[in-house]
Amino acid sequence: VSEESLPKIYQRSEHVVSRANIDPDALKIIYRLIRSGHIAYLVGGGVRDLLLGKTPKDFDIATDATPRQVKTLFRNSRIIGRRFKLVHIFFSGGKNIEVSTFRDSSEEPLDNVFGSAETDARRRDLTINALFYNPADYTIIDYVGGIEDLRKGIIRVIGDPNIRFQEDPVRMLRVVRHASRTGFEIDPWCGQALKDCKDLLKTASQVRVYEEFRKDLSAGYSLESLRGLLKYDLLEMLLPKFSILGPNFLDEGAHLPICLERIDMLVRSGQLISSSVTLATLFLKIEPHLMDESDDSYDIGEIIKYAFDSLVVPRKERERIEALVMAFKQAVEVQENGGAIKKSRFVEPEELIILFSVFFGDESARWIRSQLNKSSGNKRRSKAKIAQ
Ligand code: ATP
Ligand code: MG
Repeated sequence: VSEESLPKIYQRSEHVVSRANIDPDALKIIYRLIRSGHIAYLVGGGVRDLLLGKTPKDFDIATDATPRQVKTLFRNSRIIGRRFKLVHIFFSGGKNIEVSTFRDSSEEPLDNVFGSAETDARRRDLTINALFYNPADYTIIDYVGGIEDLRKGIIRVIGDPNIRFQEDPVRMLRVVRHASRTGFEIDPWCGQALKDCKDLLKTASQVRVYEEFRKDLSAGYSLESLRGLLKYDLLEMLLPKFSILGPNFLDEGAHLPICLERIDMLVRSGQLISSSVTLATLFLKIEPHLMDESDDSYDIGEIIKYAFDSLVVPRKERERIEALVMAFKQAVEVQENGGAIKKSRFVEPEELIILFSVFFGDESARWIRSQLNKSSGNKRRSKAKIAQ
């Protein structure tokens, strides 16, 4: 356990974070907390992204006010969480901003045992994710060397990575995701620990493992994430069946990387694409290798289960993948041999179009779009008839 130490403070002239790029509601919350005599900082991914010149997805706030104190300051708020309580403050349009009280250094938080800004920073995962921005004086407060790592382009776990992965194995996936997203190098100590600790993934909460993996696939850097997971021996823990494809299946020039890159480009250009599309893409690549040609009674749902057997894929998601895979195959059949596209109420037409586009290119995507329009046109017409 660490002693109190002085943080590095970066003045306004030494960093690029500007209030103009921060959600005004997050600033209002912070200023109200400060006026009530509390400390309140912007923290986490929001500060990291601002420092990288990116637009943050969300703005989290850390404070020394207890959840109760926060709750009484904001009418439109709710305390959430069982063990460790946080406050969500709600705004119009479904937006909510998370305010958490500084955590203490213990991994298993006790009820209402809170800490300081320093303990809160040190229990976070990566140095670049543990920076505070203080809107009271526009400084960045850095207890962990995060600014230096950002400048050098290094992904580093706070403290001994072996211990931090033991405490929470999901952090291993977060290391790889953040490295893929930023293009930063994983610090060598941390990289070695990833390999040494891979078995811990089995002992982690499988729901959280899946949730982090799903984020890997949907954040616009699925190819780089999968390559990172492969490089650090974690992919064999998550998708062991994919070893059938050989060690080079993510190499430049293979078809799967081309598909994943196309999905990533769409996500990065702002399209909302669910993780089911990426999982269906992965599945469609591995399926031929898993199929037993002599068995014509095989069930696509069973094969999907088998392909992803080390992941706890939620039932709904598995069903979406299954419907998408079946719709895709039926449409390919029509593309090759003619006939009509069967519409499934479990498949978003747009997702089928995306699959065609990433597998076969723009021309095929246009073809499937026109086919789907045709059949929905028919439906509309027949409904109109009934209405008459
Ligand atoms: P994203 O842009 O994907 O949201 P993020 O860094 O904001 O990235 P979140 O999952 O939103 O990621 O988590 C918010 C913050 O909480 C992180 O920046 C990090 O400081 C901390 N955090 C998240 N997960 C862990 C973990 N497993 N262990 C320690 N700290 C964590
Ligand atoms: Mg976040």
